[in-house]
Amino acid sequence: MTKPRVAILGLGIMGSGMAGRALTAGFPLAVYNRNPEKTAPFAKAGVYVARTPRDAAARADIIISMLADDNASRAVWLDKETGALGAAASGTWLIESSTASIKWIHELAAAAKQKECELLDAPVTGSMPQAAAGELLFLVGGSSEALAAVRPILAVMSRDIVHLGPTGSGATLKLINNFLCGVQAASLAEAMALLNASGLDREKSVAILTTGAPGSPLLKLLTTRAAANDFTPNFLLRLMAKDLSYAREEGQRHNIAMNTATAAIIDFEKAINAGYGEKDLSAIIPALQKP
Ligand code: NAP
Repeated sequence: MTKPRVAILGLGIMGSGMAGRALTAGFPLAVYNRNPEKTAPFAKAGVYVARTPRDAAARADIIISMLADDNASRAVWLDKETGALGAAASGTWLIESSTASIKWIHELAAAAKQKECELLDAPVTGSMPQAAAGELLFLVGGSSEALAAVRPILAVMSRDIVHLGPTGSGATLKLINNFLCGVQAASLAEAMALLNASGLDREKSVAILTTGAPGSPLLKLLTTRAAANDFTPNFLLRLMAKDLSYAREEGQRHNIAMNTATAAIIDFEKAINAGYGEKDLSAIIPALQKP
């Protein structure tokens, strides 16, 4: 069977890994990125580099976007002149893999429906190494029919694909997942500040914390990166702040106060204001240290 034509919109840390997997697996591929520099490796590999999202969408049976946030997604899908949806033929499968707000996912799904297209929300867990290795976990919302149609392309990018329910279900679990991660990262950074201010032995103390009850995989990862003093981004700190604010917005829509999200957002804003936004999430640790 011939493989469906795929367009990938957004070649950031995650999108470039996902596009690499689609290329290796032999899917006919078109890519788009706002900053054209990031398309260079794909052009070199013979991939069609689109000048606009619309140009990429016109050549695709399946369109996947992997963008920073709601604003980026809105611009790439819906811009009046260059937006991908403008060129999506009826029956094209649309996949939003960005971590986005639930409100936006529903708005985008409605716009897709007007074009007789179906949208799946399919955000991911895993980071840069998992995207490059095809080891992501997709959390999917939308119809079973749509998921069956796009499963082969998602499969080459992932270790598993979980169908959670109707539109918005994948995006909701992703926000809940990152709410827990963001709060943990902020509380870890505060704990490390207290630990240092108290004059405790850092290495000995971190070993106790990471092997004891609080020692989640995230705690282990962030403390390891901080100890190595390596904050090259796998996941930008500012994107976690965005996820926390979307999660809080969704919680509050359900009358859940989300007080710990608010506390974490305060810590993340402090880190961003101090210039740590473009560094890896683990930089929340040095960002909250007492000078
Ligand atoms: P990234 O490296 O910062 O890439 C962001 C992408 O969005 C780039 O292609 C960027 O284009 C594009 N973009 C931003 N604003 C735009 C705008 N206004 N118009 C058009 N394009 C715009 O981020 P990432 O790490 O790949 O993350 C992508 C998504 O996946 C985010 O929603 C993130 O929360 C989520 N996610 C990330 C990870 C991770 O570990 N990194 C894990 C799971 C989920 P330019 O290159 O032109 O700036």
